[in-house]
Amino acid sequence: MRFLLDNPTFAMACQQFDQAADLLELPQNLRERTKWPKRMVSVAVPVRMDSGEVSVFSGYRVQHHLSLGPTKGGIRYAPSVDLGEVAALAMWMSWKCALMQLPYGGAKGGVACDPGKLSRRECEALTRRYTQELISFIGARSDIPAPDLGTDEQVMAWMMDTYSTHAGFAVPEIVTGKPVPIGGSLGRREATGRGVAFLVNRAAELCKLSSSLRVIVQGFGNVGSHAALELARTGARIVGVSDRTGAIHRAGGIDLCALQQHVARHGGVRGFPEAEPIDARQILLQPCDVLIPAAVERVITGEVAEKIQCRILAEGANGPTTPEADKVLAERPEVFLLPDILCNAGGVVTSYFEWVQDLQSFFWSEREVYDALYRILEQALATILKRVGKQKSSMRMAALMIGIERVAEAKRLRGLFP
Ligand code: NAD
Repeated sequence: MRFLLDNPTFAMACQQFDQAADLLELPQNLRERTKWPKRMVSVAVPVRMDSGEVSVFSGYRVQHHLSLGPTKGGIRYAPSVDLGEVAALAMWMSWKCALMQLPYGGAKGGVACDPGKLSRRECEALTRRYTQELISFIGARSDIPAPDLGTDEQVMAWMMDTYSTHAGFAVPEIVTGKPVPIGGSLGRREATGRGVAFLVNRAAELCKLSSSLRVIVQGFGNVGSHAALELARTGARIVGVSDRTGAIHRAGGIDLCALQQHVARHGGVRGFPEAEPIDARQILLQPCDVLIPAAVERVITGEVAEKIQCRILAEGANGPTTPEADKVLAERPEVFLLPDILCNAGGVVTSYFEWVQDLQSFFWSEREVYDALYRILEQALATILKRVGKQKSSMRMAALMIGIERVAEAKRLRGLFP
């Protein structure tokens, strides 16, 4: 399994794990069992394209550990997807679920493709065939997918339909992040971004910042757009936004409704007439109170970390900050870090609520969803802050230590078979 270390994202996840395990003084045999992914599957996904040609895509699913319940994690459609990236994301899901005290292990899946270049019919065919290839690997009691980068509610609906057709009856609990009319949860679509916004506002209180926060968001998809909208609703000014098409800046604040309409029409933020275009890398370095990377991994490098001018770094994306950047940030205590496994956990917590609702066929109001979500996020933040105070560790290490020790403890208690 060591070949996975050739992938820089997996190597980064392992580096973080090793550092936290050292701080926990985790015994070697427990450390190895806790670290490596339990199961990995790689599938060839043939799809008839609109041209009539057949393209074969590479699909993956990794289940990191099975000690606390079924595994849970998103499905990513992006050109960068490979087994190492998916394994790293599955590992982070394990620590995130444990930090939130959800009865899940971590998982992740994905297909190496460019979703922007697929027609709707091709995307549906790819999704259905990928799901079919995974039928024996996923299950409502074993491994439950959800949306991630490049996938959405519609993709989840196709996955649910393919799985249900195979079963012969509707199995809404096979995926979360579905549309509400087929068993999705109220609030799930916005939950990751709103969770980010909730934690940013809590961090701003702790840092004694005013409520008129200046915010820059990288990524204007599910997480980035809903975080921005919720922060704007609570009084913040969104001064910069970037996505894969470009970056825009306006010191006076960007009109998000107008931006959403522009993105819907033109496929990205580029060319938005009511803000200045800016270099995509430079946007991260502009003065602001809150910087939210909500796109891809490893964008806050050591060099970027030296130059960022924010008071709060809120990791909406998974793994946006490299270990080199963490070293730089350790020397910059003025930057308050909301680490990914806390900051974007609103998604998986609400996915858990959706799964519970589907299993019980009993649905909650949006108010019930958000009250329960914010209570769990608040509790996780308090637990991390307590750990930071006790061990003088960074926010990231405290969060990782809590997640990792809960998984390791479950393994210790269950013992080793045979
Ligand atoms: P999405 O596909 O809805 O949106 C991604 C956004 O990032 C798009 O605006 C895209 O243009 C932009 N982007 C892609 N590559 C970029 C680049 N190189 N530079 C700048 N922008 C780029 O995806 P999402 O669901 O919002 O996921 C974003 C991040 O949040 C990922 O790291 C994902 O793993 C993480 N996450 C998502 C959820 C969820 O519920 N969707 C939950 C937890 C974490």
